[in-house]
Amino acid sequence: MNKNPIFKRVAIIGIGLIGSSLSRAIKANRLATHVAVHDISLDALEMAEKLSIADSYHEKISDAVLDSDLIVLAIPVRVYGKTVSAMVSSLSSGAILTDVGSVKEEVIRVLKPILPPNTYLVPGHPVAGTEHSGPESGFSNLFQDRWAILTPEPETDKNAIQIVKEMWHRVGSDVEIMEASHHDRVLAITSHLPHLIAYTIVATAADLENQLKTEKADEDMVTTAEVIKYSAGGFRDFTRIAGSDPVMWRDVFLSNKEAVLEMLGRFTEDLSALQKAIRWEDGDQLEALFTRTRSIRRSVVEAGQAGGFQYTEVSSDKSEI
Ligand code: NAP
Repeated sequence: MNKNPIFKRVAIIGIGLIGSSLSRAIKANRLATHVAVHDISLDALEMAEKLSIADSYHEKISDAVLDSDLIVLAIPVRVYGKTVSAMVSSLSSGAILTDVGSVKEEVIRVLKPILPPNTYLVPGHPVAGTEHSGPESGFSNLFQDRWAILTPEPETDKNAIQIVKEMWHRVGSDVEIMEASHHDRVLAITSHLPHLIAYTIVATAADLENQLKTEKADEDMVTTAEVIKYSAGGFRDFTRIAGSDPVMWRDVFLSNKEAVLEMLGRFTEDLSALQKAIRWEDGDQLEALFTRTRSIRRSVVEAGQAGGFQYTEVSSDKSEI
């Protein structure tokens, strides 16, 4: 594989989990001569500098993007519009803008009208991550053996796509190119819906616990946090996913509303069918479903997408991350 730097200067906007991991990976693999970072949070910027995650640290976004041949947005999706508007006048001719956002159609809808004609938009999404946030939680091999999905439009410059593709390859990812709308539907079922379920089940359990406490208090009994205390692996994994960043996930659901609602409708129908099977004690139906899902799980393991530092957008074997 070519070992030469791909970029003279990369600007990473947002130096949290994903931005700091990419900065580390770009530096570790010597993909750029210089990595400049900007973050709206001065604490994050200070921490990034303390950890030597990049080469230069900028409070002003225009200073970070100046002379950069690649700009990576690693911030919540709903702030893309105002963030990119603040940098357009400082973009170099020929600069490539990419991102790591978890939804893609909305990103193109917002960014396409803002970008100057002499720049290229190559939207991206690394399907890699954890439930943690901030520069201190990133690490350089986060993207190793994970998928990176690119969703350029058909008219996008092929060379710009190739360059972004090469960057993801060289930080260890396999790259898939697909339409933005297809990405959003696939991720709605594999990632966004599981998060919604996790958020719901943890909130339901917490409400139940409060109710149990009140009932016990009425009976003048000692109360303990039983629902949480006796949670076995299944619930513990849900709490891990439900610990993911609230702002990021708020933005994901608001920006991928249609696809999530569609998948939620399908899921609700299937859940009702299961409810009925339990009510009617239809063991055959339950066993057939669980057998089918077990073989799906085996395929996930065989595809190497089950363990290690796994993105919380899909399930993980490691409950501690
Ligand atoms: P994060 O750890 O919370 O980091 C985001 C950073 O961006 C924070 O320091 C935040 O500062 C800063 N920021 C917010 N608004 C900004 C703005 N307008 N200009 C500059 N900086 C700004 O988040 P993350 O997990 O890295 O997620 C970043 C993006 O990656 C999201 O779009 C998400 O969809 C995508 N993604 C996340 C994962 C994952 O597992 N977490 C995986 C794949 C893709 P404040 O804290 O002060 O707001």
